[in-house]
Amino acid sequence: MPIASINPATGETLKTFESLNDQQLEEKLARAAATFPDHRRTSFAERAQMMIRAAEILEHEKQQFARVMTLEMGKPIRAAVSEAEKCALVCRYYAENAEKHLADEIVETNATRSYVRFQPLGVVLAVMPWNFPFWQVFRFAAPALMAGNVGLLKHASNVPQCALAIENIFRRAGFPEGAFQTLLIGAETVQRVIEDARVAAVTLTGSEPAGRSVAGIAGKQIKKTVLELGGSDPFIVMPSADLEAAVTTAVKARTINNGQSCIAAKRFIVHTQIYEEFEKRFVEIMKALRVGDPLDEATDIGPLATEQILKDLEDQVRVSVAAGAKLLTGGQKFKAGGNLAGGNFYEPTVLVDIPKGSPAYADEIFGPVASLFRIGGIDEAIELANATPFGLGAAAWTNDDAERNRFVDELEAGCVFINGMVASDPRLPFGGVKHSGYGRELGEFGIREFVNVKTVWIK
Ligand code: NAP
Repeated sequence: MPIASINPATGETLKTFESLNDQQLEEKLARAAATFPDHRRTSFAERAQMMIRAAEILEHEKQQFARVMTLEMGKPIRAAVSEAEKCALVCRYYAENAEKHLADEIVETNATRSYVRFQPLGVVLAVMPWNFPFWQVFRFAAPALMAGNVGLLKHASNVPQCALAIENIFRRAGFPEGAFQTLLIGAETVQRVIEDARVAAVTLTGSEPAGRSVAGIAGKQIKKTVLELGGSDPFIVMPSADLEAAVTTAVKARTINNGQSCIAAKRFIVHTQIYEEFEKRFVEIMKALRVGDPLDEATDIGPLATEQILKDLEDQVRVSVAAGAKLLTGGQKFKAGGNLAGGNFYEPTVLVDIPKGSPAYADEIFGPVASLFRIGGIDEAIELANATPFGLGAAAWTNDDAERNRFVDELEAGCVFINGMVASDPRLPFGGVKHSGYGRELGEFGIREFVNVKTVWIK
């Protein structure tokens, strides 16, 4: 696949890039390996100073960075500005907390002194997706660099300008050239990089097939991996919930990032007592969303990031409908006019009566397509919520204590949000179970993924 920036709102090719040749790749690997011994010896205070500078650059230039994101992958511009701001937050969070999270931990034993010390592993490769083209990278890079590791980024092939902009931010923030480098390479070159002896570990955020492949290669090399994969998050609504708050949040949770988020709510599981009202309001709000130019501040839903994603989405809806699912609204490519006629737009869509085994029942749907289910009670809700190979996030709406406790205990997911929508936060760990992956990003758990947990015993 060529490395090209294509505006998904218009189909226009903005820029193309040559992949790195063998010699260029070798130079980058050598530079990363040569930088690590020096970078690991810098103090937390020195690293924090550079990380705060990175945050300042993000804050001052958020409009320009947002424009690059929107032009390359189509997210609404308001969301792109928020993404740049959130990246600054994660830089500040780890600048302030890395030293505390990685401080020696004393453990009383029969030694005179014994403790645990956390030390960086070395060169960490990050294979990243296009959907949050800045945030996904910063939430890896901020903790990794603060821990004393150095980073190599293999970004998705459709967001090379974002990848280069991020490299440039770290460079301008004062990090040495080898501390964070973008590798413009295709997926087929990832194996070679993982197998390189100078690379210590890999983190991948992306699809299940990519995760299997990368973890398989890394496993053979006995290298640590973190996998942040897909999701088919449930959003459960029980009769005691604030229905209006639940339904407006539900639409937002489904359509965030044009519906292309791993933690977007994808399956809405609603108690029969309130189902009719929920369905009516949900469809009304979905129909009222403004689809169109992502650079326009008033737009709710922009184009899907690539033509392939649009085709995959059309197929998933077509197959689900052919299997018996019913469309309450949408179900077609959205026809935008003028210079947007070549864009990858899709109508906000609602499906009901979805048969088991069809794509809308349990698969990950990347786009503004919601699956609605009616359930008779909490047992059925939990059973349906867990009836997916994924386990990333889960939201449940209830004001009943006993129900809340059951959701927290029994939903198979890396996080459970009660009366809210699933979202990442620099302070809280983020990750999945089942086919959504393993390991955690963010918070204290995130920075401890790529460190050697070294036991020290002194007599
Ligand atoms: P993708 O196709 O898996 O691509 C993700 C990254 O992996 C890209 O850099 C891609 O490179 C690379 N890649 C693909 N196949 C590979 C292989 N066999 N070996 C090595 N690298 C490979 O996923 P996507 O379509 O960009 O992103 C959407 C997926 O990411 C969804 O499933 C979504 O749920 C998931 N996601 C998960 C999280 C989370 O935190 N759990 C967050 C965001 C997204 P190329 O672009 O060059 O192919």
